[in-house]
Amino acid sequence: MIAPQHSEPLLYELSSPGRTGIILPALDVPQTSLPEEYLRPDLPLPEVSEIDVVRHFTRLSTLNYAIDTGIYPLGSCTMKYNPKINEDVARYPGFALLHPYQDESTVQGAIQLMYELQGYLAEIAGMHSVTLQPAAGAHGELTGMLVIRAYQRHIGQGQRTRVLVPDSAHGTNPATAAMCGFTVTGLATDARGNLSPEAVEQEMDETVAGLMLTNPSTLGLFEEHILEVAEIVHRRGGLIYCDGANMNAMLGIAKPGELGMDVLHYNQHKTFSTPHGGGGPGAGATAVVEKLAPFLPAPIAARRADGAYYWDSDQPLSIGRVRSFHGNFGNIVRGYAFIRAYGSNLRDISFNAVLNANYVQARLRGAYDLPYDRYCKHEVVFSGRRQAKLGVHTLDIAKRLIDYGIHPPTIYFPHIVPEAIMIEPTETESRESLDHMCEIFLKVAQEAADDPQVVLSAPHTAPVSRLDEVGAARRPNLRYFPEIVPVEAILTK
Ligand SMILES: *Cc1c(COP(=O)(O)O)cnc(C)c1O
Repeated sequence: MIAPQHSEPLLYELSSPGRTGIILPALDVPQTSLPEEYLRPDLPLPEVSEIDVVRHFTRLSTLNYAIDTGIYPLGSCTMKYNPKINEDVARYPGFALLHPYQDESTVQGAIQLMYELQGYLAEIAGMHSVTLQPAAGAHGELTGMLVIRAYQRHIGQGQRTRVLVPDSAHGTNPATAAMCGFTVTGLATDARGNLSPEAVEQEMDETVAGLMLTNPSTLGLFEEHILEVAEIVHRRGGLIYCDGANMNAMLGIAKPGELGMDVLHYNQHKTFSTPHGGGGPGAGATAVVEKLAPFLPAPIAARRADGAYYWDSDQPLSIGRVRSFHGNFGNIVRGYAFIRAYGSNLRDISFNAVLNANYVQARLRGAYDLPYDRYCKHEVVFSGRRQAKLGVHTLDIAKRLIDYGIHPPTIYFPHIVPEAIMIEPTETESRESLDHMCEIFLKVAQEAADDPQVVLSAPHTAPVSRLDEVGAARRPNLRYFPEIVPVEAILTK
């Protein structure tokens, strides 16, 4: 085994025998020793002073890049505006200390909040009903596709076992369809980045349960033939699942239900507050048109004629629960607070997100290849093909951005764009902040042409350089192994 690569000293390496960070009061009870079996000689604790510990952890905390310290242009992830006030709201004792087994009469406010949020999300989707149970976007997909499967079986169309998925889709789409027992048929995207009605027409027959569509697509482009595609799918007996992860491009501007979509999941942690990027928790509320409502997971928050709120479990056709209790309630509270704060100005979010992405497109189009040359929605996808010809790949560009204090964008996704560079500025970045980011992208493009070596060997300023990223995710090394001898100790022997 080799020592992990690090330039920051580990707390164990600051250890000095006998040094201590606390002063214990004099012993006023008889002294006894711990049972032998609880003592582990292989677990020495670092002997450090209080200030050693405080400085160590404070220094480590500054090594993390965060949305609170700079722009975070990861496309398809929407590391967006998470108002700090919503963190307070989600922690109100009246919300945070509830127990899901409490009697309905004691949690009227919570059920009311969920009932109203269901209504807002149905309105924004242009659909009839909403479940708040799913715990993530992919979980919303699973819920929605199970609803489609249940509906098709219910009307005697159980032979529909295929699902069409465009090649630009997020990987979760085909995975979801497969998990529901469907066979996936891929559809090629055309030269303008659209799903072509001809391709849909060709595949759409009585074996197809439906189509999974992302709008705007993961290319950041509005599906220009969406009405035609919806007409074809419906005429041939299929339903349309819309992946709504990109809803922040069209909030209050276009309703997926009015564009012919039958089911839609939201990524509440991408569109309606809740910081994400740390792996959760998420929320994937899923909306459906009227004829699919009976199949939604039960229970749904409901309101009686006398104004009392309750859990409605009277849904004989329901696919059943998809999650314990009532979903990730903290996310639900944040989303509610977010939507209420914006009110009818919600659409400004989308106007600004789209404006910012097109501004970045206009500023960088001379330096990076633009595979689909048209107005984009909330994110813009470039290709690093031109730089790749000089031997500098998209990964190198991403690493070089780190030297300039910019978080890299999403890279190599969507897969159909070679050397993809996907930038989502989000609606909250100012003109100055966008200009700063664009200047750096332009500088790195210049470096790739003039001094490729400096880009190829980046990052130069980060505490660690090029990592085995797959290894770090699959075999994380999260603890200190005292048996690992530091490299320096080996070298001085
Ligand atoms: C993020 C994303 C998903 C998956 O959502 P999770 O909440 O991460 O499960 C699905 N589709 C698209 C287009 C996405 O951007």
